[in-house]
Amino acid sequence: MKTIALVAHDNRKKDLMEWVEYNKETLKKHRLVCTGTTGRMVEETLSKGTKKGEQKLDIKLLKSGPLGGDQQLGALIAEGEIDLLFFLWDPMQPQPHDVDVKALLRISSLYNVPTATNRSTADFLISSPLFDTDYKPKLISYSDYTSRKLNL
Ligand code: PGA
Repeated sequence: MKTIALVAHDNRKKDLMEWVEYNKETLKKHRLVCTGTTGRMVEETLSKGTKKGEQKLDIKLLKSGPLGGDQQLGALIAEGEIDLLFFLWDPMQPQPHDVDVKALLRISSLYNVPTATNRSTADFLISSPLFDTDYKPKLISYSDYTSRKLNL
């Protein structure tokens, strides 16, 4: 079971929900973590047509992105809690939380988290043969940096 983060900016939510609908049987088998509004929509999309007795969704809703949700997610990545990130950000509209968006993308790169920022990459990631394995991203050791000598 993987922990999968899902986030979409408002203009990309429709896109993400179509993708979630298409991949719902796969997504339902995993633990999901979403920013607030995206999460409510994902919950609704995945609950549609749920059969009685079917396993309950495992979905955690963080705060809405602009209210700190992106930062909460970044913290989870730094703690090693997120296996994959699907983040459909909007390249056409400035966001009030632009710095948080940048920070989330930076931290996902830093921790080598498989990250899709558009739908085609999302398709490639979820259909990768590695998706069903216990893949652990290789982490760069920053020990030279963390143990650097500071002249105070
Ligand atoms: P939202 O946040 O899911 O609460 O809309 C998304 C974001 O802007 O990061």
